[in-house]
Amino acid sequence: MSHIIHRNPRRVPPVAAHATGITITDRDGRTYLDASGGAAVSSLGHAHPDVLAAMHAQIDRNAYAHTAFFTCDAAEQLAARLAADAPGDLDQVYLVSGGSEAMETALKLARQYWLEAGQPQRTTFIARRQSYHGNTLGALAVGGNAWRRQPFAPLLIEVPRISPCYEYRGRADGQSTDDYTAALLQELEDAILAAGADKVIGFVAETVVGATAGAVPPTPGYFRGVRRLCDQYGLLLILDEVMCGMGRSGTLYAFEQEGVLPDLVVLGKGLGAGYQPIGAVLARAPIVQRLRDGSGAFLHGHTYMGHPVAAAAALAVQKVIQRDCLLGAVTVRGAALRRMLREAFGNHPHVGDIRGRGLLIGLELVADRDSKAPFDPARRLHAVIKDEAMARGLMIYPMGGTIDGRHGDHILLAPPFIATEAELAEITSRLADTLHATLNPATF
Ligand code: PLP
Repeated sequence: MSHIIHRNPRRVPPVAAHATGITITDRDGRTYLDASGGAAVSSLGHAHPDVLAAMHAQIDRNAYAHTAFFTCDAAEQLAARLAADAPGDLDQVYLVSGGSEAMETALKLARQYWLEAGQPQRTTFIARRQSYHGNTLGALAVGGNAWRRQPFAPLLIEVPRISPCYEYRGRADGQSTDDYTAALLQELEDAILAAGADKVIGFVAETVVGATAGAVPPTPGYFRGVRRLCDQYGLLLILDEVMCGMGRSGTLYAFEQEGVLPDLVVLGKGLGAGYQPIGAVLARAPIVQRLRDGSGAFLHGHTYMGHPVAAAAALAVQKVIQRDCLLGAVTVRGAALRRMLREAFGNHPHVGDIRGRGLLIGLELVADRDSKAPFDPARRLHAVIKDEAMARGLMIYPMGGTIDGRHGDHILLAPPFIATEAELAEITSRLADTLHATLNPATF
C-alpha cells in the first residue's frame, strides 16, 4: 500500500529503479524507452556523468544556503550564462523550483512592473485557449484548458482568452496561412481593445504549444505580429518556454526562430533536464530596473529559489548542450524522427497531423482524416494509448485536448537530445505496434 497521493488514485505506477541514457528500468526489471523525456524534461537522458559530477561536487561544497542571507557561485554562474546566451537585453534572471513557480513569478513581476510605472489599473492578462502554464492558481488562471480551471473557479484573476495559433484545426478550408494569421492577430487586437489597452498587463503564450495541443508551432509571422501589437498598445509579451525552451526546439529558445524579443521568458523542465527541480524567469533589463528605481525590490521569494545543487545541475546541463553541439543534434534528429513518423503514419487513417519543432513532436489522432473529427472523448483514447505503450516498454505523453468545445487526442514525443537514430527508429516501431493494437478496427 502506497501513502503517496498518486496521479491516478486507482493505480500505483511501476517503481522506477534505475535510469541511464534514454532507458528507465523498473523494480521488476522491465525497461522503458523514454520517448517523451518524462514530460519533455530529460534533454540529456538519464545519469549523464557530467551532470552527476557537478551535483556531487556542489553537495560536497554547499548543499543549501538561504537566499535571504547568501548567493552562491552556481546560481550566479547559471544566471550569467543564461543572460549571455539570451538575445538582446534579456539579462535578468530569477531562479525558482519549477515551471509553475516560474509562471507565477513572471505574472507578479509583470504586475509589479506596471504598479511601479504608476499604472496600477493594469491588472488584466490576455492569454489563449488551448494552453497550459502550470497548476498553481495564478498559472491556472492564465492557462487555457477549461477543465483544469473550472473545479477551482473563481480563480485569482479573470483572463480574456483568444484563439490559439493552431493551423491544423483553426485555418478554414481555402483560407491562406497569411489570412489565418492576420485573423488571429485581429482577434488579439480586438481583445486588447475590449479589455481596454491601458488595463492590460501583457499577453501570455507558449511559443510552441506543448502538452495541451501536441507540439503546435506558430504560423510564420504570428509572433512578429503579436510583438507589434504589444508594442503598439504597451503590453508586455510573456512567452512560456517551460516545455519548448532550453534547446528542445533546435534553438536554445523557441522564440529565436520567430524573430521576436519577448519581455519575459518562463523556463523550467529542460533547464535542469530532470536532474533537479528548477525553473527560471528571464526578464529584459529595463523591467527589473524599473523595480530597482521604484520600491527597490521585487515583492516575491521562495525558500528554494537559487538552490545551489539545482543551479549546479542546470549549469552542467547547459555546458553539455553547448560542448556536445546538441542544439544542432536536436534539429537533425528532430527532422529524422519526423521523417520516420511520416513514413510510418503518413497514411494512417487515424493520424491527422504530424508536427512540431526540433525534438518536440506531436501526432494528432482523429476518427476521420477528412473531416478531422476527433474520437469520442469518453473513450479516453489517450489514456488507453499510454497504457498500451507502457506495456510495450515505451514512454510517450498522450493527452486528450479540448479546443472550442471540440476534442482531440494527441501524442507528444520529446526524446532526449542524445537519442540515436537507431533509438528513434525503435521508438517509431514501438509506437506503430501501440497504435496498431489500440486503433485496430477489430478491437477498438
Ligand atoms: N508551462 C508549460 C508550457 C508546461 O508545459 C508546464 C508543465 O507541463 C508548466 C508551465 C508547469 O511546469 P511545472 O509542471 O514544472 O510546474
